[in-house]
Amino acid sequence: MEEEVKVLIIGSGPAGYTAAIYLSRANLQPVLYEGITPGGQLTTTTEIENFPGYPDGVDGNQMMVDMRRQAERFGAQIRTGVITRVDLASRPFHVVVDGEQELRAESIIIATGATAKYLGLPSETKYRGQGVSACATCDGFFYRKKDVAVVGGGDTACEEATYLASLCRKVYLIVRKPFLRASKAMQQRVFNTPNIEVLFEHNTAEVLGDESGVTGALLRANDGSERKIDISGFFLAIGHHPNTELFADQLQLDAEGYIVTEGTSSRTNIEGVFAAGDVQDPHYRQAITAAGSGCVAALDCERFLLR
Ligand code: NDP
Repeated sequence: MEEEVKVLIIGSGPAGYTAAIYLSRANLQPVLYEGITPGGQLTTTTEIENFPGYPDGVDGNQMMVDMRRQAERFGAQIRTGVITRVDLASRPFHVVVDGEQELRAESIIIATGATAKYLGLPSETKYRGQGVSACATCDGFFYRKKDVAVVGGGDTACEEATYLASLCRKVYLIVRKPFLRASKAMQQRVFNTPNIEVLFEHNTAEVLGDESGVTGALLRANDGSERKIDISGFFLAIGHHPNTELFADQLQLDAEGYIVTEGTSSRTNIEGVFAAGDVQDPHYRQAITAAGSGCVAALDCERFLLR
């Protein structure tokens, strides 16, 4: 017989766990599936310094372990597994886990987050994991005292370039515009770091490498000139796309694929389905805003179930 749950939470970042904490405290026995990256994007970062309540900072992995424990303390069921299909046509919603196990959910909170973007070059795909990475804080360690490049001009790119500069000999920051999009404070950090060289108005034509992995990159400037740089690591920091493929034909999404929610609520266009965190937030994408929206979703969902 198919299992029936009151609330299914999909995703285990700050949004999913916060929703689980609130709903379990409300005695609604939420069931949370962790998804492909248990703990979400924060597990790929090191120190988090801007989450209130941690004056000395906190390790990203540790924070997610703590959130999980907090949810479990109140009875949330945290399960390993990936939701591979959902049918939102009628309630209770039909859901398939790991391609085989089926369950029915009276309500769903989608907190599936977002994933890093890549440039789409075949050479970039070829060397993924062999010098090409979208997470400097995860992989930077392997490039100690070497030369690397970061692509992007936003806060993430600047943060990653600064982080890598503390480990590596030299960091090229490849920016396609004549300016950085990052906050002034972050820009200042980059300009004040002597071993970061910002290459404005440059795009990557090709990632170069051999059997050992990445060895360089061919860059093309906006004036058409080309330049080769010698690097061992090539880091992407060009933004994220929301993890909404599962819901594409069923929920209202915006032009970029983010789930559209009603006003300041977490309500989607389908009654009983709520969205929280980066999957519905193209603007702020912070751990604290994701956690806050997980709380909103839990309260909206509770109201829906008790109506
Ligand atoms: P953003 O969307 O802000 O920046 C993406 C950058 O990548 C832009 O410079 C963009 O260029 C560039 N880019 C996009 N596509 C390509 C491409 N195909 N080739 C070359 N360059 C490309 O993403 P972020 O991840 O930096 O930031 C996301 C959000 O998270 C922002 O709101 C940011 O403020 C926030 N954030 C805050 C932090 C903090 O406060 N500590 C840390 C990290 C992120 P262009 O400018 O030309 O579009």
